[in-house]
Amino acid sequence: MTPRKVVILGGGVGGVASAKMISEEARKHSVNLEVTLVTKERRHYMPPLFFDVAMGEASPEETYAPIENLSRYFGVNVLVDPVNYIDAANHTVVTGSGRKIEYDYLVVALGTTYEWGKYPGLAKAGYHNYDLEGAIKLRDALRRFKGGKVVIFIPETPYRCGIYPYEAATVLAVSFRNAGIKAEVTVLTPDPKPVTPLGKDIHKMWFDAFEELGVEYVVHKGTQEIDGTRRIVRTTNVEEKYDLLIKVPPPGLPDPLKKSEGFTWKQDERFAPAKPPTFRHPEYDNVYMVGEHSMVPAGISLAGVFVHNASLVASNNLLADIIGFYPRYTIPTATCAGYVKDKGFMGHCEIRYNPETGKYEWADRCYVGPISSLARLFKVGFYKSWLDSLR
Ligand SMILES: Cc1cc2nc3c(=O)[nH]c(=O)nc-3n(C[C@H](O)[C@H](O)[C@H](O)COP(=O)(O)OP(=O)(O)OC[C@H]3O[C@@H](n4cnc5c(N)ncnc54)[C@H](O)[C@@H]3O)c2cc1C
Repeated sequence: MTPRKVVILGGGVGGVASAKMISEEARKHSVNLEVTLVTKERRHYMPPLFFDVAMGEASPEETYAPIENLSRYFGVNVLVDPVNYIDAANHTVVTGSGRKIEYDYLVVALGTTYEWGKYPGLAKAGYHNYDLEGAIKLRDALRRFKGGKVVIFIPETPYRCGIYPYEAATVLAVSFRNAGIKAEVTVLTPDPKPVTPLGKDIHKMWFDAFEELGVEYVVHKGTQEIDGTRRIVRTTNVEEKYDLLIKVPPPGLPDPLKKSEGFTWKQDERFAPAKPPTFRHPEYDNVYMVGEHSMVPAGISLAGVFVHNASLVASNNLLADIIGFYPRYTIPTATCAGYVKDKGFMGHCEIRYNPETGKYEWADRCYVGPISSLARLFKVGFYKSWLDSLR
């Protein structure tokens, strides 16, 4: 019998998590599948480690592993060729080099694009660590920084990894203090509380840390422009002058999804549709949408922890479609580890699928463990061991 073809788009967190699970489970259950992952670059990045590069705590090479090792260790075919568009009606993906790849099942995990051009001045001003090149530039800017005002600027919500700007604010404030550098750190954000949906325990943890370190938390009501010459961020209600600007990108829909019929979410064109609880495409039953582009339509947020969970749930359902009797899980909880000051914390949120709204919802119960060096070690260890599985 010819094997059924599973094609996975994207070699990041969602693509790799799906490829590993589908290939391993197919082997365990003797299911005849051909799994192919299509991605645009040879590296599989673990983006949270970009911050460690910016802080001088990791080398650039520690942030990635060769994607082609998915073939060596997991039997997945890897094709490095950018996706151009999806022709879902004909079960085909068309690549930049003109290849037409047919599939029985498709898993889409193309991440999100960074819309630096969305606000005047944002593209040119300041630094970021949302890709490796940016992280190296931010590292060098921090090495040159002699003191002054640092503004961490979030132009809009949602954005990739809710906790990151707050982690960065407290880690930087402690690092400046320890290095004897006189710096004021301000977070300029549209979010009334640091990651509002995560609840009061996590808000308290951040606000306590901000108070201890003198980090200012300023809420703006809409981005206007960044004047890079005069070093001012202008919003509709406040202006902040800066010596060093660290910026967060507004998210956008990846190009191949913009070009594909049925892959723009009508309620908000920054995202692509997905149907909870399974992350199936609402129109195409054999297509699963697990990348960051589809977290908001499912009712959750933009972060690797959700993409990882979504990938496991979608892979379960895809395998159940093929195998028959096989668990069809939904996402019950999300656990994350973050940096705070020179230590770390672990947070754990309950999530439920609400059949009435057809969405995942926060169960309003997030727990935060104690701030400790162990939690920091866990965070770094998790990312590094994830990459080690492809080395
Ligand atoms: C600084 C920083 C800190 C973070 N910290 C955390 C954290 O502490 N916890 C957490 O949960 N998350 C964190 N995140 C977020 C996390 O990295 C993302 O949520 C996660 O990577 C999203 O997975 P994804 O598969 O959707 O996208 P990605 O991991 O970005 O993967 C997208 C893949 O698609 C490929 N691709 C794109 N376009 C094409 C194309 N046209 N053709 C083929 N391939 C294409 C890319 O090359 C890439 O391989 C952080 C992110 C950053 C930047």
